[in-house]
Amino acid sequence: MTSLTSSAVLNTERCAVCAGALETERILARLDRCRACGFISYQGADPEAIAALYDEGYFTGGEYPDYLGQQDSLRRSMRMHLRQIAHYMPLAGSLFEVGCAYGLFLDEARRHFDRVAGVDICAVPLEYARATLGLDAREDDFLAMNFPGERFDAICVWDTIEHIPSPDALLAKAASLLSSNGMLFLTTGDIGALNARVRGASWRQIHPPSHLNYFSRATISRLCERVGLQVVGIETAAYFHTIFNLLASIRLRGGASGGLAGTLLKLAGERRARSVGVWLNLGDIMFVAARKRAD
Ligand SMILES: [Zn+2]
Repeated sequence: MTSLTSSAVLNTERCAVCAGALETERILARLDRCRACGFISYQGADPEAIAALYDEGYFTGGEYPDYLGQQDSLRRSMRMHLRQIAHYMPLAGSLFEVGCAYGLFLDEARRHFDRVAGVDICAVPLEYARATLGLDAREDDFLAMNFPGERFDAICVWDTIEHIPSPDALLAKAASLLSSNGMLFLTTGDIGALNARVRGASWRQIHPPSHLNYFSRATISRLCERVGLQVVGIETAAYFHTIFNLLASIRLRGGASGGLAGTLLKLAGERRARSVGVWLNLGDIMFVAARKRAD
């Protein structure tokens, strides 16, 4: 289990979730928990260092072992997201994705939705989304963008909110861009999940400064409420992984288990490891559905 004690740190900034003055206590060695609402974040990041993380290398060994090489698996996971979206709304109308990367989700979503578009700050994957997939994928900072007259029936934020220095501004902007009754869907780690609590500081989702925000069901719900979104469902997200991707991800993290994963990968052979896969759901990634509240 986690050890949740030690030094109190007083920050001058506001808590992204409860908007109170951010007085935190240090937990799990390097994370900070708001004493008022329990929101856990990483406060030690330098904004320029954060922006520099998201170059092409992010998708080819930095954060993901080989993003585009895993396209078939990723598309299967994205189609599962769409099946989960269908629990809350008909798959129709307009959809916008924040953090669309190579556009694989948008490409799957446009089989159902009438209009899809997305944005990312990372240029290289967007080039693929535009040139190869022909998507409306914009290179920009979502928070700085203008959407004159545009409203969306669904906005999706997959595995992205944990990376954003101001998650409250992100969700407030998303809420403002939803049509009446529009739906926000997001996935992010659940630091309150059993696996996260058992793994403690070793939980795979804990890697600042790439991951800055560590939501629980309670804190993501509270933030949604504060920006005018009502959480109508929280499910867990399942992801399809090839054996290659599983072992390469573990190898990327190094250490004894990383070395073992590398050896297993060599033994299995890369081609075979890429051809076999499994659905994985450790129960620690939340799929959150929230509806725009009527004014
Ligand atoms: Zn707080």
